[in-house]
Amino acid sequence: MVCSSLLFSLSAACSSAGSPPELQQINTTDPSFPGIPGDEATYDYLFQYMPLANCGPINPEALGDRTELRIFQGDGISDQDVIRYLGGLRRYYDRYGIHMFTRHSVIRVPLDHALSLNSAVLVQEVRAQTGVDLSQSLSLTSEQTAMVGHAAFHNVIEFFNRYAIPTTKMINIVLLRQIVGSGADPGESQLMVHAVAGLGLSPALLASFPSTDPSAALYGWVGVQDFTPTAFIGVDVTDAVGVLPDVVISHEVGHCYGLAHDTTSGDLMTPAETTCVLSLNDAQLATVDDATKNLALLSGGAVAAVEDRATDIASVIRSMFPQPAASR
Ligand SMILES: [Zn+2]
Repeated sequence: MVCSSLLFSLSAACSSAGSPPELQQINTTDPSFPGIPGDEATYDYLFQYMPLANCGPINPEALGDRTELRIFQGDGISDQDVIRYLGGLRRYYDRYGIHMFTRHSVIRVPLDHALSLNSAVLVQEVRAQTGVDLSQSLSLTSEQTAMVGHAAFHNVIEFFNRYAIPTTKMINIVLLRQIVGSGADPGESQLMVHAVAGLGLSPALLASFPSTDPSAALYGWVGVQDFTPTAFIGVDVTDAVGVLPDVVISHEVGHCYGLAHDTTSGDLMTPAETTCVLSLNDAQLATVDDATKNLALLSGGAVAAVEDRATDIASVIRSMFPQPAASR
């Protein structure tokens, strides 16, 4: 991407040639937010799906739960995409007797992606926000890394400030074209960052992580104390991989329920699983059941949690800056 090594002003100029700027703004909250709830039947068409006989969990259960959603449609996401992904979400959780619904119309958000990993853009943003010039830095202190991380989550924070704070007893579903913006620095890590298909954030999730987790530092980068659990879905990435929408959106909603990653093959919460036959085990189902029956569990955490490739994203941010020779 030729614009990636240029400063933000030039990057913005590049955007007029087709690609969106890395750091995007939501200048006004949609007037229908939070809004008065309507009849959920009005919006049921958003969740229509065709059953797939050989897909879904192998241990269906009838939990008898309900989860209310707010739906957000990013730039370039079609109405058909919205139905395809929400249909996939309901198709999956219907098998566990968890009814997904909304009582509000879809809100359009002027975002293309969730994370920005263009070093020139981030250096510019850190300078604008803090006055600190990192352009000549050979390596970053943890405090400086946090500044860069905060800038990298700019679009997420824009969304949160409009639609995730204060906390509601719902889950936000945000359909975007990509999770990582197209201006990410080229390099060996690029393949990894562009393969990030989703980002699930929930205050409750952090409680499942030990403070010694190597990615724990990243959790604070978003910088908000509490927020509505939010699942960002990268539609283009998911579609390009050819995986069923159900897999990615259901996994990220799993994070919103407070589920951490698993390592068991065939588990919905095991990263990089692509089969459409993914299940939740008894303990995971108990967590989901508790979360849906007592939605207060979905919020109340003291620190923001960021899941999904957190360690990888942190290492990418570090790798964007030249390292002292000794550590290469
Ligand atoms: Zn995950």
